[in-house]
Amino acid sequence: MLKFSRTADAIGATASKLEKTRVLAEYLRELEPADLRLAAVWMTGRAFSPNDPRVQNLGGSTMWRAVQALTQLEADELGSTYLKYSDPGDWAFEVLQGRTHPRPTGLQDVAQAFDRMAATGAQQAKLEELTLLLDRLQPLEAKYVIKILASDLRIGLQEGLVEEAVAQAFGLNLDQVRRLHMLTGDIGETAVRCQAGEVETTSIQLFKPIRFMLATAVATPEEAMQRVGSEAWTEEKYDGVRCQLHKQGDRVALYSRDLRETTLAFPELAEAAGRLTHDVLIDGEVLGHRAGKVLRFFELQRRLGRKEVPAGLREEVPVALVAFDLLYLDGEAILDLPLQERRARLEALGFEHPFLLARYEAARSAADLDRLFKETRERGNEGLMLKSPESAYTPGRRGMAWLKLKRPLATLDVVVTAVEWGHGKRRGVLSDYTFAVLDEETGELVNVGKAYTGLTDAEIAEMTQHFLESTLVDRGRIRIVQPETVIEVAFDSIQHSGRHKSGYALRFPRIVRLRPDKTVKEIDTLATVAALYERFFGAETATTLEEVAEIP
Ligand code: AMP
Repeated sequence: MLKFSRTADAIGATASKLEKTRVLAEYLRELEPADLRLAAVWMTGRAFSPNDPRVQNLGGSTMWRAVQALTQLEADELGSTYLKYSDPGDWAFEVLQGRTHPRPTGLQDVAQAFDRMAATGAQQAKLEELTLLLDRLQPLEAKYVIKILASDLRIGLQEGLVEEAVAQAFGLNLDQVRRLHMLTGDIGETAVRCQAGEVETTSIQLFKPIRFMLATAVATPEEAMQRVGSEAWTEEKYDGVRCQLHKQGDRVALYSRDLRETTLAFPELAEAAGRLTHDVLIDGEVLGHRAGKVLRFFELQRRLGRKEVPAGLREEVPVALVAFDLLYLDGEAILDLPLQERRARLEALGFEHPFLLARYEAARSAADLDRLFKETRERGNEGLMLKSPESAYTPGRRGMAWLKLKRPLATLDVVVTAVEWGHGKRRGVLSDYTFAVLDEETGELVNVGKAYTGLTDAEIAEMTQHFLESTLVDRGRIRIVQPETVIEVAFDSIQHSGRHKSGYALRFPRIVRLRPDKTVKEIDTLATVAALYERFFGAETATTLEEVAEIP
């Protein structure tokens, strides 16, 4: 631990990135694999790799109490020294001088103490463990243990520089290291593989989850086609949970988007995976379904975060895995193959329920996309995924090879019922509009939201004048106005709301345009809002499993 700490100190002492990298590379090069794994992660200011499900959860006050117990100093004195540094590590370094009982301590010893601390939920037990650990360290070592636990080394070393140092240490090209890191999502694992010379991505190791490929958002079919090239494969943007399935021989594991193991949440998928006749790593989405219909995410959610899924719930919310990618097949990593070839191999696996294949359809123009988008909307789905059939799978990256096309859910014509003075840049103008739809049953106007973006400054100035003149009640901040100004608003979703009499609130509404051509008689109705809510967010979905997946 002393060598780690001296290295970290030396890195912090120079502003030169080249020098930081050189010092770190020299240190990493000498380490045994087990130490290398720890040192690389700790140098990024973390006690555990981001894909390690454990969190240290050690409060600042626990660190404080551990240091206090060792130093026996008064809180005042500890506090005034702390103010000098505002960094818990630097502070511990000073106050622990001559107050610990140092013994030679390796990185493994520290890691074991970290493991024990993470394993207990009780702050008191963490405190005892930390006090014992600090007591056996030299102040310089304690400084870095504390910094790691506080998740910030403050030595000007970003993850990028650690990657560079790993490359330098083992004579590799930086791109190779980055790629491997992207794949593993774990700099410690990356460093160890680099040391062993296993840098090819063909070295996917099953049961070490890799980071998921992500999609970049686009707002229009035209923009989407421009980015994706001449052809895009479109798939439903599923409303489930992302899932990575690893299967080798008899062993099966499922991982979530944050690379945590979720095998126990979906036992039927794990059992069925055991019957696949190939070793695979599959990327897909778990969907809940009932009577042929896809369930909303909130129903699937009931199955998450449990140690065990009760049989009743398994029946109530059955799940399927809709596979859309294959990254490893029988000993070979195939991420770099074009999507269309990966897909061909995925299809050849011969799935049986509950494994399904994602349905895709090729689009060659913005008009194709527009049609496909409308179809998915008809099914009550929010968006469309687009993938370039030529593209490689790039773990952890939000690139242009995968896009997600989202558009506002709908637009409605509504009437402004109240206005509010704006804040900041909008001070002195009436810029926030509360708006209503018509409840045809009662003839009343009922509010469904409030919008404060979308108009130009000139329009806002003009509307301010207009609303000052049409104010019915002046309540200071808010003015109730004559309900006669019709605007068109776009929005992304609808929620139930107790705040509005209508019972609904539009989420993220923005003004698309003023509609001086419309009168209040022509605005949209509460029944329309209720129908939109039912279609997109109500319990019953309109999507059948068959529409979005190929069912064997
Ligand atoms: P976002 O979280 O907005 O970046 O969107 C990407 C997420 O969409 C992924 O994490 C997946 O869980 C989800 N997703 C839904 N459908 C698909 C699909 N057909 N292909 C890939 N990801 C999908």
